[in-house]
Amino acid sequence: MSEAVYKKVEIVGSSKTGIESAVQNAISQAGESIRNMRWFEVVETRGHIVNKRVDYWQVTVKIGFHVESPGGETREKITEARGAEKQPQKGSKQNEGTFRCTVCGYVYDPAKGDPDGGIEPGTPFDKIPDDWRCPVCGVGKDKFVAQ
Ligand code: FE
Repeated sequence: MSEAVYKKVEIVGSSKTGIESAVQNAISQAGESIRNMRWFEVVETRGHIVNKRVDYWQVTVKIGFHVESPGGETREKITEARGAEKQPQKGSKQNEGTFRCTVCGYVYDPAKGDPDGGIEPGTPFDKIPDDWRCPVCGVGKDKFVAQ
């Protein structure tokens, strides 16, 4: 499997403690929704100043993760790993209407919607505006497939 494909996402972590914990916070948060993370690189380090003191650190990191091939083993692992989010098994009734991002593995669940993205819970995938983006990796609706 030396021909694996990786994708990078860029995120910003912050911490009042220091740069390293800002990096760790970014990675931990990303790990909530991205599986198969393999490496990171620090893109930018900056901070917020209050009264001549460092108030908090902001570190921009790129995280590389393994992209699954369609129908491949890794994709199955992603689905399993997302069981932590109570993702139902393939083919079960609860799975109906869910769509998965083929880039990062994020699963859109109509029952939950995407409130942060302005999508009300109960919105079927085909009723989401065409300019909606994956809340994790930012790709468009065309990169989603029915589960
Ligand atoms: Fe995505």
